[in-house]
Amino acid sequence: MPPKFNDRLSPYLSKGNSYMKIRKAVIWLICAASLLCMLSACDTSDKGETIKEPETQARSFYEYFDTVCVVMSYKGDSAEEFDKNCSDIETLLDDYHKLFDIYYEYSGINNLKTVNKNAGIAPVKVDERLIDFLLYAKDIYALTDGKTNVAMGSVLKLWHKEREKGINDPENAKLPDENALSEAAKHTDISCLIIDEKENTVYLSDPDMSLDVGALGKGYATEKAAKLLIDRGVTSYVLNFGGNIRAIGTKVTGEGWITGITNPDKESEKSFVCRVNIKNVSLVTSGDYERYYIVDGKKYHHIIDPETNMPAKYFSSISVFTSDSGLADALSTALFCMSYEDGIKLIEKIGGVDAVWVTLSGEVKFTDGVEFLNN
Ligand code: ADP
Ligand code: MG
Repeated sequence: MPPKFNDRLSPYLSKGNSYMKIRKAVIWLICAASLLCMLSACDTSDKGETIKEPETQARSFYEYFDTVCVVMSYKGDSAEEFDKNCSDIETLLDDYHKLFDIYYEYSGINNLKTVNKNAGIAPVKVDERLIDFLLYAKDIYALTDGKTNVAMGSVLKLWHKEREKGINDPENAKLPDENALSEAAKHTDISCLIIDEKENTVYLSDPDMSLDVGALGKGYATEKAAKLLIDRGVTSYVLNFGGNIRAIGTKVTGEGWITGITNPDKESEKSFVCRVNIKNVSLVTSGDYERYYIVDGKKYHHIIDPETNMPAKYFSSISVFTSDSGLADALSTALFCMSYEDGIKLIEKIGGVDAVWVTLSGEVKFTDGVEFLNN
């Protein structure tokens, strides 16, 4: 009999992080919940023989990207090897977290907060890793026809402010002012993000522009962590960084991991709209069901369509499967902001990408390459 849901989670819960804030625990539970069925103890290989699976090792980090990052090993590596991999991943997470932070600065480094602060004032010398990331962010803008735009900080800030206020004081929740939104939208031109690769500087030439990498940062860091492991020849690991799932290789049996795509309809008895089998792939979901607030009985979520400056109204969720976790994260936001037809065109143009859409009425649409399991 498969273990009960809570039993599956217990190996993580027993880590005993009593300092953990309730909010973070909730986020963590949400991402851990998506790792349905990853803990089976033995399995059957592709050739039909029964192979005992090594014990799963897991480590969680609570300090990065305002979420929980879980590293899981299914390969049976030694405690030392697992420790070393985890501590190197933690260093990487710490570095990217600091570089991408738009709220705090850290001594000894210039990060995105420093860049935003210097908009219209001066180019800022930054770590080469931030240069690489921002070049990538520009490529993503071009690829998604501006739907995923890191230069949308001015608009996103207005939504962020009202959302936070509205969550804390629901009675007085309101939408951002329409004129303020259209004024802010005039300052989202990505060509004003000027990157000097020779000097390693970044300059926002529009003083009212700011960068927000919420749509890209987590997935990008997840892929960097995956690369670190892959370069060491590591397989049979799964990373789950705040719901950005990256399966590295397969289980030792050659099988994939089974995970669920969350049902955006929280009233429904079904927690998942479907179960899927993942091997050597990333799975990233953007949805309207976790980060939102209510104004006059209507839900307003956190993914903003650059065409309307309003929360995108196409779907309840979109899940992207592709090997690179950075691309999966970037595309989940972009596809959330476009019609199914445009999404299909984009996916076909890129190649190697599959997706599951959950429409506002709960209909599930998908591309051919998604490996479903019978529910
Ligand atoms: P999440 O990270 O919450 O799972 P996403 O990857 O879709 O979901 O990222 C959403 C975040 O990206 C928002 O919180 C906001 O900071 C930012 N964002 C929202 N809409 C856009 C957009 N159209 N382009 C770029 N960034 C966006
Ligand atoms: Mg994203």
